[in-house]
Amino acid sequence: MRDVLKPLSRVVDCDALREEYERKPLAQVVAELEENSRDGFSLEVKRVDDRWLYFIAGKSGGFFWPSYLTAYFYCAKQLWLQHLLKATVVGERGLRCLARGVKAHKIYARYLEGRGLPVEKEVHVHGVFNGVEVDGYIDLLAEGVPVEVKSGYKEHLGHRLQAMLYAVLVGSRTAYIVYPHRVVHVAVDEGLLGVYVQRVLKVIGLREPPPEPPAKRNSRGERVKPCDTCEVRVLCAKYPSKFKTWDSFLAHIGELPRGDRCLNCPHLEYCRAFKARHEARPCMSHQRLLKV
Ligand code: SF4
Repeated sequence: MRDVLKPLSRVVDCDALREEYERKPLAQVVAELEENSRDGFSLEVKRVDDRWLYFIAGKSGGFFWPSYLTAYFYCAKQLWLQHLLKATVVGERGLRCLARGVKAHKIYARYLEGRGLPVEKEVHVHGVFNGVEVDGYIDLLAEGVPVEVKSGYKEHLGHRLQAMLYAVLVGSRTAYIVYPHRVVHVAVDEGLLGVYVQRVLKVIGLREPPPEPPAKRNSRGERVKPCDTCEVRVLCAKYPSKFKTWDSFLAHIGELPRGDRCLNCPHLEYCRAFKARHEARPCMSHQRLLKV
C-alpha cells in the first residue's frame, strides 16, 4: 500500500481545487456539505457583530470525537466553544475549506480504487480507548489501515494523534496522513495518545474558557498568532478567558512540565514561554533570578 499512496498534489491540482472552492457560489458549497453529510446536516447562519458565522450542529452523542485532537492543536478555546455550543463554528472561509476537504477525499478514494486498492469511505468507528468512549468517521480505510486526507498544508501533532486513535479503534498499529506535499506514516504511540486524550477531556470539561493559543511558527519560520486570522474571533471575544498565559492555563489543568516538582515553582507561569525562547526550562537554565 505504501507504494500506492502519493501526496495529494500528485493526484489532484491542489491550487486549482482551492480556487474552485474560493469561487464556487456559497449555496453550492452548502449543498455539497449537506449531500455528503454522514448523519444529518444542521446548519444555522447567525450574524455576530459585523460577521456571518455558520454553526454546524454536532452529533457527538456525548462521546469523545477523534477530531477533538486536531481541534485542540489548532486552538483549545475554539475546541472549548465547539463543545459548549454543540456546534462547529466557522466563517465563510472555513465552510469552503470543509467542502474542499470532502471533495479531496472523494478524488483520492477514486485514485486509490483506480490503482487497484479497494477502500472503504467515511468509515464509522466506535469503541473505547483508555476507558473513554470514542466515536468518529475515518476518511478512508485501505487494507484495514486508516488513511486521512488533508487538503491543507499545515501539519501538526493533532493530525497524527487523530490518526492514531482511528488506528486503535480498527485494531491497526499504523495509519497514514496524505498531505498535499507528502505522505506521513504514523505509528501508534498509546502513551502519547493517552496523555492528549486526557488533556482534551480536561479542556472540554472546563467551566472557564482557555486562553488564546500562543504564537506559532508558520512554514516561512515567522511567528504568527492564530487569532489574527481566525474567522470566529468576534464570537470568541464574547467569552474572555481569566487565564493570562498559556502556561498558567496548562498549570491549572494539571499539565506540569516536570511533574509535581513544578508545583511550587516561581517560574511556572512562564515556564514554556521561557523554554521556547531560551531552549531550556527556567529551573534548568544557567540564568538566575535577580533578587531585588
Ligand atoms: S480568536 Fe483565537 S482564541 Fe479565539 S477561537 Fe480564534 S484562534 Fe481561538
